[in-house]
Amino acid sequence: MSSKEENALRQAIIDGCLRMNAEGHNQGTSGNISARYKDRMLITPSGVPYEKMTPEMIASMEVVSDEFSWEGPLKPSSEWHFHRDILKNRPEQGAVVHLHSTFATVLAMARKPIPSCHYMVACFGGNDVRCGGYARYGTPELSRIAVEALEARTACLLANHGMVAIGSTLDKALWTAVELETLAKQYYHTLLIGGPVMLNDGHIEDTLKGIATYGLQDKNGTS
Ligand code: 13P
Ligand code: ZN
Repeated sequence: MSSKEENALRQAIIDGCLRMNAEGHNQGTSGNISARYKDRMLITPSGVPYEKMTPEMIASMEVVSDEFSWEGPLKPSSEWHFHRDILKNRPEQGAVVHLHSTFATVLAMARKPIPSCHYMVACFGGNDVRCGGYARYGTPELSRIAVEALEARTACLLANHGMVAIGSTLDKALWTAVELETLAKQYYHTLLIGGPVMLNDGHIEDTLKGIATYGLQDKNGTS
């Protein structure tokens, strides 16, 4: 039986999914969310409409494991490979949000990474947001692509598919996902009027210094 704390995290995952759909960042049962709980990963079940999802339906998997086994009444998201590999590879990160949000997906379909077109690109860790190559959904190959595209970053695009955003907490991962969709929308629109004027590496480095204390902070003011 899950503790009160675990149950609250399970409910927060569902609330995150409902919010992403309500705000138009996702639709139907596209996308999925996971969050680290102790040495396990709590992850949305596959193909369940979010309005029907209850905390007990969230699947639980060991993070450091090579096996496909889970606890819970329903099969975990088909993207459990990349959720688990990202949490395994990035111990400082606590949650993974995957969306098929419109503008991030438009860029991913055109296989266009997001360059230094706005200082907010630094919020994702560097001077671009990469677009990983294509692999079929739900495969270990897609997981390898996602982990690589996320190196030293907190978000990436996945070719002909969508986006992945990560954060030390679920709230931060959701924040990152919404910021990425916003930047993707802005970048897309500048492409329609001749393309953006790019910032240089100096601008991004300078922004990175400020960004360490920008955005959603925990109680100590650390990011
Ligand atoms: P699931 O319903 O299995 O989570 O799949 C949705 C999705 O986005 C696959 O890439
Ligand atoms: Zn997907």
